[in-house]
Amino acid sequence: MSGSAPSGADGMSVASAFSGMTGVEPVVFKAACPDCRTGLELSASALRLVVGATHRTTFYSFTCPQCRTAVRRPAGERIVELLTGGGVRALRLHATGRGA
Ligand SMILES: [Zn+2]
Repeated sequence: MSGSAPSGADGMSVASAFSGMTGVEPVVFKAACPDCRTGLELSASALRLVVGATHRTTFYSFTCPQCRTAVRRPAGERIVELLTGGGVRALRLHATGRGA
């Protein structure tokens, strides 16, 4: 069983999900534009992931190449792992240190 990481686990624990992956193959993420309903294949560089302190502030976004709509969707823990494991840059938001 894969225990659920506390939160903000760094490394790429998702790597096992791509068991067939050898070397540095580019990963393509499939998504559909909610606006024009075009099925899209997005490379890691086309996606942006924002990881906030809570689920509500954790989302991924991309710009639809068809209609130029900026799409933003909530990202659950699984999606975060999938995206980061696939090379999507994650922007981590955390409250600026209190204390230290
Ligand atoms: Zn679109």
